[in-house]
Amino acid sequence: GGTVQFDQVHFGYDPQREILHGISFTVPAGRTLAIVGPSGAGKSTIARILFRFYDIQSGSVTIDGQDIAAVTQQSLRAAIGIVPQDMVLFNDTIGYNIAYGREGASQAEIEATARAAQIHDFILGMPQGYDTRVGERGLKLSGGEKQRVAIARTLLKDPPVLVLDEATSALDSRTETEIQTVLRDISRKRTTLVVAHRLSTVVDADEIIVLDQGRIVERGAHADLVRAD
Ligand code: ADP
Ligand code: ADP
Repeated sequence: GGTVQFDQVHFGYDPQREILHGISFTVPAGRTLAIVGPSGAGKSTIARILFRFYDIQSGSVTIDGQDIAAVTQQSLRAAIGIVPQDMVLFNDTIGYNIAYGREGASQAEIEATARAAQIHDFILGMPQGYDTRVGERGLKLSGGEKQRVAIARTLLKDPPVLVLDEATSALDSRTETEIQTVLRDISRKRTTLVVAHRLSTVVDADEIIVLDQGRIVERGAHADLVRAD
């Protein structure tokens, strides 16, 4: 499951000032859609609407055909995982930061879930590996390691829909490439919305939409859009 559909979505933070002017797109289950465009185009607004931080003025947003206005916040949070640009870590261990929000789960349960979701592979990308590092404090981590923790935390929920919101924008270019490889791997298995501001970083998305001032001005595969440039 996990098909995401926006149909003629109109939205303004202030109803008098519309920000999104009739946005429509479909991300079929398991596919990746990238939303690119300049700062202020409305990319983050689309992500916030998907999480239902705001209600739209008209149109509809559905996941697997179900209007998100009709589902509980709880099931929406279970359905959508987000990897943000710069996750703020708690001043606690890596393990705590990954497992946060799963109160009641024992360390053994968390470990088992993490293993099932193949989270260890990501953490093992850290120089000394998961088992020796899980007890370390999160605040000492580098930018790339922090993003691995953010990814691990998101994957632990095993959400059918994944939102990558400028998830590598804050990293240096070598680390960015490394984390992008990790993200590409996990996005192959689930419905993914990638928010980015450069076309060059979303090469293998199934579809790319270019947003400008709240309108989709172009859409297509990467090769089509590059040709049109
Ligand atoms: P992007 O993510 O593409 O940079 P945003 O979705 O953040 O763009 O912003 C789209 C428009 O909405 C901009 O004009 C921005 O100023 C406005 N905007 C964003 N957040 C808010 C808010 N909380 N209240 C009012 N206007 C906002
Ligand atoms: P920016 O342009 O702001 O630097 P990026 O374009 O680097 O932002 O990336 C936004 C996010 O999308 C990053 O987490 C990146 O790894 C991810 N990403 C880019 N292309 C793909 C893709 N085809 N599939 C999955 N994730 C992708």
